Amino acid sequence: MKARDIMQEIILLKQGEMVLKGLNRRGFEEKMMGNAKRRLKKYGSFKVYTRQSTTYVEPLDDSADFEGAWEAMGKVFGAVGVCRARACPKDKDEIVKCAVEYLGDKLQAAKSFKVESKRADKTFPMTSIQLSQYVGGELHDRFPHLEADMHHPELTVHVEVRDFDAYIHADPEPGAGGLPVGMGGRALSLLSGGIDSPVASWMVAKRGVIVDMVHYYSYPYTSPEAKEKVLDLARLLVPYTGKQCVHVVPFTKIQEELRRSCPEELFTILMRRFMMRIACRVAEKNGIQALVTGESVGQVASQTLDALACTDAVCTLPVLRPLVGMDKEEIVRISRKIGTFETSILPYEDCCTVFTPKHPRTKPKPEELEEAEKGLDIDGLVNEAVENIERVMLDL
Ligand code: ATP
Ligand code: MG
Repeated sequence: MKARDIMQEIILLKQGEMVLKGLNRRGFEEKMMGNAKRRLKKYGSFKVYTRQSTTYVEPLDDSADFEGAWEAMGKVFGAVGVCRARACPKDKDEIVKCAVEYLGDKLQAAKSFKVESKRADKTFPMTSIQLSQYVGGELHDRFPHLEADMHHPELTVHVEVRDFDAYIHADPEPGAGGLPVGMGGRALSLLSGGIDSPVASWMVAKRGVIVDMVHYYSYPYTSPEAKEKVLDLARLLVPYTGKQCVHVVPFTKIQEELRRSCPEELFTILMRRFMMRIACRVAEKNGIQALVTGESVGQVASQTLDALACTDAVCTLPVLRPLVGMDKEEIVRISRKIGTFETSILPYEDCCTVFTPKHPRTKPKPEELEEAEKGLDIDGLVNEAVENIERVMLDL
């Protein structure tokens, strides 16, 4: 029998908000574990289990890509904190030795510390308090500059005595937060190539919602590269969402019709109404419950309250606008954090920018839009676009 490789590292995921879920909590836990397991598949064999609000991710052999798994686990929604831990034999001096080796740099750098112990294995010969005192004393002997501080220590050395091994770790780092994807229904996000809509999609996925996407493109006014860029943005979100269906909708004919027959200053808002109508149709066909956009009040002419009311007027589903009260700077900060910013700023045109009016109306009224749309075969245009959708499936 192969000796258990006891010096291995494992990953701990600390449950966030889902601990408050009462009777439903088990369902949230199962979903988070399932999501973690799917993401771990390409990094080798791992054992995943949950005890007391913590999900343990243990590599089962040496061939597992631990660094890859560590990065992937930082993107699992539902985990408020993630940390790496080192396993060692369940013996007080082995625990001290492991803490010195594994957290030595941190112990050297900190000014104050404490040891916090947990025992799942009640046959362990010391109580948690005795173990903390023993390990704390030994660490203090080896790092005499460290002050013991039970209330606000700079470093907490965690010791967990479990069924087979003991685990040593420092405080968790921030995890992806939110709730496990799959617990919150399904939404359809309108994804452009800009900075905002990938962030909006991410924010809704973070709340446990499965997010599919719809993108409108206007070939030849927009290039194939512009479409690829949007698919790249969607791909960047897959480590968070798990998978993604992108509905790519041909929008050229609608834009040409609008340009031919409608007042220029209403062009953008009329176009947005068509985007919403098509998105509602796609959503209804696919059992999706809400739309998502990257709009924020006042950011551009089509995002004033009057304009948003005109867009909502044609929607048959709720429209989620998670960025509604955010400044551009705050949105950019998130887009950098989630890794979409660099792709978003690549200079490809979007169908919104192709026929931008010189003086867009900032206070449109639903009646004038209805008037402008009178001569159009709305259903025909929407049907034709929906029939010609190209579906792109993205997976981990
Ligand atoms: P973004 O940075 O996401 O492009 P924006 O500030 O440029 O947003 P608009 O161009 O007015 O804003 O678009 C508002 C929202 O409409 C976008 O956030 C997105 O949800 C949706 N949208 C715009 N263009 C498209 C498109 N070509 N395909 C799909 N959705 C789009
Ligand atoms: Mg845009």
